[in-house]
Amino acid sequence: SDKTVSGSVSTDSDRTPVRVDSQDSQVSDGEAADRLWPRQNSISMREWDIPFDELQMGEAIGTGHFGTVYRGNWHGDVAIKVLNMNCLDDEKTLEGFKLDVATFRKTRHENLVLFMGACMKPPHLAIVTSMCKGLTLYHHIHVYKDKFAMNKTISLAQQISQGMGYLHARGIVHKDLKTKNIFLQNGKVVITDFGLFSVTKLCFGNRKGDGLSIPPGWLCYLAPEIIRSLKAHQKPEDDDLPFSKNTDIYAFGTVWYELLCGEWPFKGQPPEAIIWQVGKGMKQTLANLQASRDVKDILMMCWAYKATDRPDFVCLHRTLEKLPKKRLARSPSHPIHLSRSAES
Ligand code: ADP
Ligand code: MG
Repeated sequence: SDKTVSGSVSTDSDRTPVRVDSQDSQVSDGEAADRLWPRQNSISMREWDIPFDELQMGEAIGTGHFGTVYRGNWHGDVAIKVLNMNCLDDEKTLEGFKLDVATFRKTRHENLVLFMGACMKPPHLAIVTSMCKGLTLYHHIHVYKDKFAMNKTISLAQQISQGMGYLHARGIVHKDLKTKNIFLQNGKVVITDFGLFSVTKLCFGNRKGDGLSIPPGWLCYLAPEIIRSLKAHQKPEDDDLPFSKNTDIYAFGTVWYELLCGEWPFKGQPPEAIIWQVGKGMKQTLANLQASRDVKDILMMCWAYKATDRPDFVCLHRTLEKLPKKRLARSPSHPIHLSRSAES
């Protein structure tokens, strides 16, 4: 059929000039535009629509705020994030999810989890990514109490800022950057769950009562402007929280703090106390942190109260690059010896 043909044309949409998501296509005839655009749109979606029955579901790995993650198989080992879908009355939210999925497929970076596709036919909504081997930074820092040497800490932060810088350059705001969403695989950082936060609306929608439930360890990643809007609205489904590239930077600051200190800021304080302090622009004190001025400055810049005072990831990466690194002790087989003997 002609649908299949135009579908296959749009496959390589990154390279060919064929517009798939072309809301701005220059069709002067309004009727023609109406006919064209929904058809093209649905085809671009179908390519990333993995039929739910093609997925082999394995054991559940764990449950987060969006739903449950399963080990699975789809042309190899995959992680399948099944979204809580008790509340499909909201067509707009579903459309939003589909648009997010269309954005994820464009991500290709070695510090980002590989997005493989999604099931987008209600009631089965799921996101399929490669399975991360290794542990999350959360696990290393808070469960195993691993202490990373400074060089390693800098390297991890640089890899995070590289992956995040790429996302931002693609116009994707992570919205849920935290150590639980950062895996460490043989020394390589892999960031997961970017851009998914808008689907929380799907999950909140079903809840009874007005209370805002706050997952433990979540608050300290939220920038003051988000904290303040939580206070104002209470119900996340009422209004979008003001996530931005700047709020991702704030969250990165908290990750940097965890890497340095082995704990979260505002450790042991009740949510109300954290909300009050952050909302007023107060920060975790760094008095007990044994680190250089430069290292602490990164925290202060990322945690700046005013969103626009925070740096971007390109700038952060450069700053991290300039931090003094400890030199490794020379071994007898150091290359300098070799090059000298080669010269003589
Ligand atoms: P959270 O990020 O808050 O831990 P999630 O729902 O994202 O909640 O994840 C639930 C569990 O599944 C966690 O233990 C997480 O480490 C694991 N997980 C999520 N995505 C992957 C993945 N791509 N590979 C391996 N494990 C994953
Ligand atoms: Mg996660």
